[in-house]
This record gives sequence, structure tokens and C-alpha cells, in this order.
Amino acid sequence: MVASPDLVFALQRRLGFAPPRQVLKGALEETFTGRIAVVSSFGADSAVLLHLVAEIDPATPVLFIDTGRHFLETLEYRDRLTAHLGLTDVRSIGPTADEVARLDADLSRATWDPDGCCAFRKTAPLQRALEGFDAWITGRKRFQSTERQDLPVFEFETPHVKVNPLASWSAADITDHVARHHLPAHPLVAQGFLSIGCAPCTSAVAFGEDPRAGRWRNFEKTECGIHLPSIDPTLKQSNP
Ligand code: SF4
Repeated sequence: MVASPDLVFALQRRLGFAPPRQVLKGALEETFTGRIAVVSSFGADSAVLLHLVAEIDPATPVLFIDTGRHFLETLEYRDRLTAHLGLTDVRSIGPTADEVARLDADLSRATWDPDGCCAFRKTAPLQRALEGFDAWITGRKRFQSTERQDLPVFEFETPHVKVNPLASWSAADITDHVARHHLPAHPLVAQGFLSIGCAPCTSAVAFGEDPRAGRWRNFEKTECGIHLPSIDPTLKQSNP
């Protein structure tokens, strides 16, 4: 079935208010079998979505965007969680060495142009990696930010369907699922990092602060760009 707005409409009507497991089973086993991937940051909340996916099919492709600027703890957590859940197809994607040399040779770009940095380190590699898929699954939740408060379970973003099975879950739902299934935590969460991205753009948050307040703290930026469709077309031509 080709990804299209009509398909999203039908899926939203059928599964848009279903629990996450039912949404994932429908997407993985019925509608997009063999043509769907999960995109995971292996961050603070990532274990929940990956656990639900692994319960259905641990061979589901999982795309991890290795920007080259992650905390070492995130890379170690990726490997530990992968082994813990028995995931068999975790793919690390990222910018090419040529792109890094050309666009951020001194590794300072995050401090003066975070949008440009995210565009070549995250968005372009993801778009290249998604070329073989009709749909991808995200772990976004409505409670995370005002930008996400109306997030539907199914979205169409040319040419893909995006599936957000956890859209309606609260922070308490996430905490409860982690505890019930004894899922390992990202080691930086205990240090106050409640939303974890690249090291230059992530800081701990104070008690009571918005969980994403530590992302791009000195900028108005609130999203990395992988959920925004526009991108420099020249970057789409590089091989990952
Ligand atoms: S989060 Fe920061 S370091 Fe990572 S790609 Fe975006 S701007 Fe660059």
C-alpha cells in the first residue's frame, strides 16, 4: 500500500485512538510490513518504544542518527539497550566525513548555526536512510512540548507516513512502563538530563523545569529538524 494522505486518513480512523501495541502491530504486521523503520535517539525515553517494537518484531530496522556529537554515554546505552532488547537490525547513520570536513571542520557549527548543523548531521542522513521505506515510527509524545500538543498518531510527510504510537502517553505512563518491564535507563537521566540529544546542545534541567528546557538552551530552537520537511537539496545527494 503506497504512503499517501488517504492512507493516513484511513489509519487514523482505524487506529488513531488505539493503544500503542495495537498501533505498532497494525503498522508492522499489516500495513507496512518490511517497509517501515523505527527512528530512535537512544535518549531518555527511548527504551519504551524500542521495547514495544522488540516485543512484536526484534528484527525491525532501527535507525540511530550518529551525528558524531553524541555523549559517549549515549553510544554505550545504544549498545546496551540493543543487547537487552534483542534488537537485531540497529543501523547507525550519519553525515559523511566529507560533509563534516566541508560544513563543520572545527566542530563549532552547533554554537553559531544549530539549524545548519542539524540539517547536515541529522536531517539529511535520515532522509537518505529512509529512501527504502514507506513509513517510520517515532517516539514523540504530546506532553513533551507545545509544538507536539496536537500530535496525531499517523501523519503524512511526503513521501512517508509517520507513526507516533506513544502520542497520547503521559510522563507517568512512560515511567510506569519502564518500571514494570525493568528497562535500563540512560545513565545521564540520573544526572538531570531529561531529554538527551548531542553533547554541545544538551544540558541538565532543574527540578520542575520543562524536560526539554536543556535542549539548545541559548537558542529559540526547540526541534532538531528531522520532523520539519525542508532541507538543503544538495545534502540529499551524499551517500551515508
Ligand atoms: S543537536 Fe547540536 S550538535 Fe547535534 S546536530 Fe543539532 S546543532 Fe549539531
